[in-house]
Amino acid sequence: MGALSGRTALVTGASRGIGRGIAERLGRDGARVAVHYGTNEAAAKETVAAIEAAGGAAFPLGVELGRPGDAEALWAEFDRHADGVDIIVNNAGIGTAPALEEIDEAEFDRVFAVNVKAPHFIVQHGLTRLRDGGRVVNISSGLARTAVMPDKMAYAMTKGALDVFTRDLSKVLGPRGITVNSVAPGIIATDNTAGLLGTEEGRAQAAAISALGRVGAPADVADVVAFLASDGGRWITGSWVDATGGSLT
Ligand code: NDP
Repeated sequence: MGALSGRTALVTGASRGIGRGIAERLGRDGARVAVHYGTNEAAAKETVAAIEAAGGAAFPLGVELGRPGDAEALWAEFDRHADGVDIIVNNAGIGTAPALEEIDEAEFDRVFAVNVKAPHFIVQHGLTRLRDGGRVVNISSGLARTAVMPDKMAYAMTKGALDVFTRDLSKVLGPRGITVNSVAPGIIATDNTAGLLGTEEGRAQAAAISALGRVGAPADVADVVAFLASDGGRWITGSWVDATGGSLT
């Protein structure tokens, strides 16, 4: 029996990167996982196959976020596969945005629509499906708490907004025994950071930001999310969990 046996989890953006790591870990812990993706169905199916190969259960769920009606569409598709949810991980996100001097209104709206509006309405429309005693985890970023990369200002702003959502939502859902937390990664090796980490020099610079002297892996974040999702995390809510490997110290 895994720690999450009998639970159902929705992980957005689970086709690749951090979301895939989270989905695989929750699957190993016994949860049945809805592996959400935007457009990359093949990658989502790979995540599902990896979970099943490890003895777990999962299904793919494709809905592009950042469009009107995205959250309703996601839950309509989810309902075809599962009856209620215990763990919602809002992980899908656009990992960057142009700097202040370059960003236009459409790009600004898009990054807020995917990174802030979508999690908000996924939770709103998920409220009737989310069982008492459940979990919401929002994937934030260390950049919400440091100005080390001011060229990513609009992106960092979305994570700041997500953190306020976490804080206030914890009060709204607390009476139902549902915890709500932000987990904030530092630099993690994913497709999103492939450019930054593409050269030996870039990788060394990124590693040096962490007190632990290395770039993070999706599993480093997934293990933190798994703890918050487990019974052991029951007394942590409204929290901002630093999963930056000591990049803010
Ligand atoms: P990746 O770019 O590797 O993966 C992004 C995932 O989100 C994919 O599954 C993708 O689906 C999905 N996604 C992206 N946009 C949309 C959309 N509009 N609609 C539906 N799904 C979408 O990202 P990471 O794993 O690097 O990042 C995951 C989260 O972690 C993000 O919220 C990011 O901001 C945050 N983060 C990442 C850090 C890092 O260093 N990597 C650091 C701090 C925070 P598809 O495969 O279909 O494209």
